[in-house]
Amino acid sequence: MSTKSILIVGSMAFDDLEFPIPVTTRTGEPRTIFEDVIGGSATYASLSASAFAPVRVVAVVGRDFPEATLEAMRARGIDTLGIERADGLSFRWRGRYHEDLAGRTSLETQLNVFQDFRPRLPADYGTTPLVLLGNIHPGLQLEVLEQLEQPEFCVADTMNFWITGEETLLAKLLRRIDLLVINDEEARLLSGIHNIARAAKDILARGPKRLVIKRGEYGSIYFDDEGVFAAPALLLEQVVDPTGAGDSFAGGLLGYLAERGRYDHQSMRLALVHGTATASFAVEHVGTDGVASLSRADVAARVARIRTLNQIAAE
Ligand code: AMP
Repeated sequence: MSTKSILIVGSMAFDDLEFPIPVTTRTGEPRTIFEDVIGGSATYASLSASAFAPVRVVAVVGRDFPEATLEAMRARGIDTLGIERADGLSFRWRGRYHEDLAGRTSLETQLNVFQDFRPRLPADYGTTPLVLLGNIHPGLQLEVLEQLEQPEFCVADTMNFWITGEETLLAKLLRRIDLLVINDEEARLLSGIHNIARAAKDILARGPKRLVIKRGEYGSIYFDDEGVFAAPALLLEQVVDPTGAGDSFAGGLLGYLAERGRYDHQSMRLALVHGTATASFAVEHVGTDGVASLSRADVAARVARIRTLNQIAAE
């Protein structure tokens, strides 16, 4: 069966990033602050998913967003017709990573053109079978869903900001998606339960039939009514910039499902491992450099490494 296509909605942004230890730039000088780095949830997710499947993006950028980035996306087969160029500045986010690179503080979020963004899907996007609702306002995520004819498989991401600020809309969204992808801190916040196993049970009861809880460098856990699966993260020698790891994970996961065309428990296990492998490329470089020219073969090679990480011989 041929690979299905994926619709991705999310942010396209300029990121200003502050790291605890100096990172060597492309020109060879060490720096801790990188400004005007191309980022955004839709950018990371679409570059990642396009290693597997045809991708269409719905987003908004400002006058200042480089045409060269959109051109590079098109060169990977990404359909950019759904990216609106609005009159104003692009979304901008500034983040400072903590000493261990695991945690980060959002220093500034400038919505700019995102403030008045109303997603409008080009007519032929309506029948896209797989959908990734990247981390944006849950009201906008619902607006996208309303313009789609019953997709086969819909994944959503969210964050603490919407969990505490938009409870009602988020509850509505959870009833309409097939898979929720969040991190452990967000799972605790959403459920009000500290224990991850019980938090997962609580979240599944709110609507999504499947749940992925990401645990950063420790990997991720998948839950559905057939059981639990834990995927370890790769042990990387070079972790530079964790920005976009979650979006690249979701892009790789959905990319794999688009290729496979099935959403059963075993397929989900494989999808989780492919998401993990994809995300490992994102964190090795600043910004989107790690996923901008990612190939399907690159991902396959890392999946092979993950397989050997937790093989246990029969007794
Ligand atoms: P991740 O590291 O996977 O959580 O994704 C980081 C990306 O999300 C960055 O490139 C930011 O531009 C983008 N981002 C940060 N905050 C927001 C927000 N409130 N809404 C949408 N995108 C965001």
